Amino acid sequence: MDIELARAWVRAIASAIEGDKERLTRLDSAIGDADHGNNMHRGFSAVLQALDGHEAATVGDVLVKTGTTLISRVGGASGPLYGTVFRTAGKRLTGPEADAGEVADALAAGLDGVRGLGAAQVGDKTMVDAFSPALDAFRAAVEAGGDLAAAARAAAEAAAEGLEATTPLQARKGRASYLGARSIGHQDPGAASTALIFHALADVTAH
Ligand code: ADP
Ligand code: MG
Ligand code: MG
Repeated sequence: MDIELARAWVRAIASAIEGDKERLTRLDSAIGDADHGNNMHRGFSAVLQALDGHEAATVGDVLVKTGTTLISRVGGASGPLYGTVFRTAGKRLTGPEADAGEVADALAAGLDGVRGLGAAQVGDKTMVDAFSPALDAFRAAVEAGGDLAAAARAAAEAAAEGLEATTPLQARKGRASYLGARSIGHQDPGAASTALIFHALADVTAH
């Protein structure tokens, strides 16, 4: 991944979120407060503006700027959580290029950051339920000799499966947890946006 690819990834996330804003909000209206699509759209619109004319010397600069903007511009839980993902991941990518293994390490740091902030485990019906299997699949693909495109494709598939797997779960973190058993039977909105983020990475790295 080079600086241009990092920018392309963030732009692809922004456009995927714009396209799926209504769906994300619909998911959040079932088990939350119906703002996830708007939160993510506001955040990534601000990120596009922030990256316009932003000088990046490293891959990480692009991701840190993304994270900082999300933290400052998104009021909901997802702002600080995704902000932490991108900031923490970005801090690991200190060169003008990163190979697939370095991207895996950065994503792992990002997931650790979310866990540190939100204390969610796999099975709590949050974005972690998509992120954690996506990271495992990404890492496994790299260890099997796959390049960034192969790793991103495997991660996107695993994130989609992780999202599906949130449906029967009862939420134990975030607003949805206030619903108790009534949170069962719906996909988690944050797991849905995480799946979009990994799909966007697969899209921009595909060759
Ligand atoms: P809010 O809940 O403040 O309205 P959003 O609707 O933007 O924020 O985001 C909700 C999503 O945030 C949830 O679907 C879930 O995936 C994620 N989330 C909430 N709390 C946590 C947590 N403690 N750890 C990880 N993810 C969380
Ligand atoms: Mg919400
Ligand atoms: Mg909210």
